[in-house]
Amino acid sequence: MPEDSDTTVFTFTRRGVLFILSAPSGAGKTTLSRRILKQWPDLRVSISYTTRKPRAGEQHGQDYYFVDEAHFHQLREAGAFAEWAQVHGFLYGTPRPPLDEALDCGQDFLLDIDVQGARQVKATYPEAVSIFVLPPSWEELAARLRSRGTEADEVIARRLERAHEETLALGEYDYLLVNEQLDHAVTLLDAIIQAERARVSRHTGASSPLLAQALHAQSGTGVR
Ligand code: 5GP
Repeated sequence: MPEDSDTTVFTFTRRGVLFILSAPSGAGKTTLSRRILKQWPDLRVSISYTTRKPRAGEQHGQDYYFVDEAHFHQLREAGAFAEWAQVHGFLYGTPRPPLDEALDCGQDFLLDIDVQGARQVKATYPEAVSIFVLPPSWEELAARLRSRGTEADEVIARRLERAHEETLALGEYDYLLVNEQLDHAVTLLDAIIQAERARVSRHTGASSPLLAQALHAQSGTGVR
């Protein structure tokens, strides 16, 4: 037993946690992830490659890497993507190297990807935490899409149809967030991040030999 006078400070090392955020477009995922990044400035966010053209205000290397199809396929064939998918008629892919580097260094990483991508990432990184964001209702989703004023009616109709399809994948996710009230959704997401960071199974080492031994023992049993 440690004595009362033992002032050893416990420090732990752990692998980074990979968070996947998926939502039908218009569910408020972008606003939600912006708010959570303010709260967790050390959370790294993936910058995807896409063949879609930049929207007003979007910047290459900041919002996406905007590339043509030939370039995208070159990268895909070279194995540069952790996952890739066709979404709304365009190709999107998550670059693998920054993701692996971050996780190896114990940095947490956030992916904003669709359900096809989430499935691929879960297959490669089973310890990833997937979160599905839903709007409070279909009516609200349609209203949010229209209020953006950036998309034509036909595009909005296609996005709504796709939203219905994507929602069928909800059961494959670890967490559900209904984004009715942004502050509440941010609080819930924050709680998920804190809890997942605290999981014993994510810790790989400890400064105290006794705790290091305990961690080693739990990993040996395959406890998650
Ligand atoms: P937007 O073009 O409106 O930014 O994104 C459209 C959809 O593509 C969103 O659902 C977004 O989550 C998804 N998306 C963005 N980047 C990626 C990616 O790298 N991979 C996959 N699978 N989906 C992505």
